[in-house]
Amino acid sequence: MSSLKPKDLKNPAIYQYLLKLVGEEGIDLIKRFPTEERSDEEIAEITGINLNSVRHTLYILYEKRLAEYRRIKDNETGWLTYLWVLKMENLTQALKEEMTFASEKLSARLRFDRNNDFYQCGSCGKTLTFNDAMTLNFVCPECGENMSHFDNELLLKALEKRIDKMNRALED
Ligand SMILES: [Zn+2]
Repeated sequence: MSSLKPKDLKNPAIYQYLLKLVGEEGIDLIKRFPTEERSDEEIAEITGINLNSVRHTLYILYEKRLAEYRRIKDNETGWLTYLWVLKMENLTQALKEEMTFASEKLSARLRFDRNNDFYQCGSCGKTLTFNDAMTLNFVCPECGENMSHFDNELLLKALEKRIDKMNRALED
């Protein structure tokens, strides 16, 4: 897919990913993006979206390889023009990379949670590692209550489940 089809935006994973990446205005730009390569100024004119916003969105899309440009030089003036196209065929790959990144971040947190003992304040819920809590004599730094050992087994299980689900989605 060189341009985004309305049905692609019905896919919640794709929509949420793009929304987080480029915002509502960016999605509008993608929807109205010309099918042939154009300069940023032409794109702004065609889509009715202001030039700064067009440039900002193009830059973000470029970083994720969802847009590409071709540079041409005017032989008379020596000016450079950048002609842009969307590369929405890279969307699946970009989504995968995003999910892999998120899954790795969760796995790192899981390792940390598994390798540490935690203490929690029964009053405000502040949670500290054993080392930090010991430094404070097991007194909550927020409200001065005593902190007690926090069993994070359920949290670990939930985290494991989430990571497992993400990894399975990535294999599909
Ligand atoms: Zn507290």
